[in-house]
Amino acid sequence: MQRDIHILGAGPAGLQVARFLLKGHSGDVYVYEEHEKIGRPIHCTGLVSLEGLRKDIGIIDENLIINTFRGAIFFSPSGKKLIVGRPETVAVVVDRERLEERLYEEVLSLGAHVKLGSHVNIADFSKLVRSKNNFGIVAGGTKYLDEDKKKHLLPALQYDIKVKDSIGITTHVLIFMGEKFSNGLFAWAIPLGDETYKVGVATKGKTLVRMKYVLKTLERIGITPLHVIKTYGGTVYTGGLVKHLLRGDLLYIGDSAGQTKPTTGGGLVYLSIAARLLASALIRNDPTLYEKNVRATLGHETTLQFALRKVLNNLSDPELDEIFRTVKEMHGEELISRIGSMDRQAFLIREIGFKYLFEKPSLVFKLLSKVLLD
Ligand SMILES: Cc1cc2nc3c(=O)[nH]c(=O)nc-3n(C[C@H](O)[C@H](O)[C@H](O)COP(=O)(O)OP(=O)(O)OC[C@H]3O[C@@H](n4cnc5c(N)ncnc54)[C@H](O)[C@@H]3O)c2cc1C
Repeated sequence: MQRDIHILGAGPAGLQVARFLLKGHSGDVYVYEEHEKIGRPIHCTGLVSLEGLRKDIGIIDENLIINTFRGAIFFSPSGKKLIVGRPETVAVVVDRERLEERLYEEVLSLGAHVKLGSHVNIADFSKLVRSKNNFGIVAGGTKYLDEDKKKHLLPALQYDIKVKDSIGITTHVLIFMGEKFSNGLFAWAIPLGDETYKVGVATKGKTLVRMKYVLKTLERIGITPLHVIKTYGGTVYTGGLVKHLLRGDLLYIGDSAGQTKPTTGGGLVYLSIAARLLASALIRNDPTLYEKNVRATLGHETTLQFALRKVLNNLSDPELDEIFRTVKEMHGEELISRIGSMDRQAFLIREIGFKYLFEKPSLVFKLLSKVLLD
């Protein structure tokens, strides 16, 4: 008989690790969730790669998909565009609440003991796990991040909006970069259909002002906002993996372990990859395998993405415009479309880095110097 496992938090990370554990672990699995309802409050956009949804998240239920996308249009501060994509669907936006409900139904059917409306104090949680010689997993989100990583958290505001006179961009996600849109990430507009968009801003400071600017920009490019249907809040994390995934008696996963993409803040695919690795380590009764395998799988990727995030965060608007111009001139859109991947970005970052190192060395050195800035 294997040891029992206790999981703090029934967000996507807690549910995914319970789900993968229950397929091979013979001990009991307990999940504690402070909210009464799974999937609430909603904060996430639910944008994931199609490959990540099927392979890593491990969901093939097409009913969860709200819209599909072939690529993205990036807008520079002055309105220059980079259009990247493929002829086929590469990304989808999923119904985030339904996704969690779907995971919840599965873990219940597999035999998990889920306690809703059950807030757990982390010190008591740690004591409980130790006293029973069980495993304890913290999947409680960003509030359990290391203190030094919390500076990479960005408050986010998101609206579902009704639009009129849409220019009909429903196949591409829109990303707006530059100081007026965000300090620390970007703003986004994701078509859910012809008449509805998810519009979001994750930024340090001036969130409402920046959101207003995004709405004005949408109008300027032919997508006229009519009214807000829903408002969401949340916190996006872009600071890379935490130093230790195994701390004291507890194992950390998901946002609490820094398992998001530093370039975008997306976490659903990486936390699912980590959940499989954690489940497999515990089934083998060796928690140290989790740390080792997550670093081997996501370490290099998140480190390079974090370096790119630092570069982007330290570029002025004119510098960002210059990068857009250079990428366009050097046929970067074709390269990104050909080899870019939403989840595995390191290859593209290296390829672009080398290409530009030969053709525009001064630009590359200027960008590299930004990595050193904090
Ligand atoms: C605005 C926004 C947009 C995003 N968009 C995307 C996107 O498009 N694609 C993508 O992949 N990712 C996106 N993300 C990131 C993604 O939402 C997170 O990476 C993901 O939700 C992390 O899951 P988690 O389970 O680690 O944490 P959470 O989702 O925060 O879940 C933690 C759970 O633990 C519970 N909990 C916390 N403390 C306790 C306690 N003490 N006792 C009991 N229960 C507790 C909470 O109630 C919650 O249910 C977005 C995030 C934000 C904020």
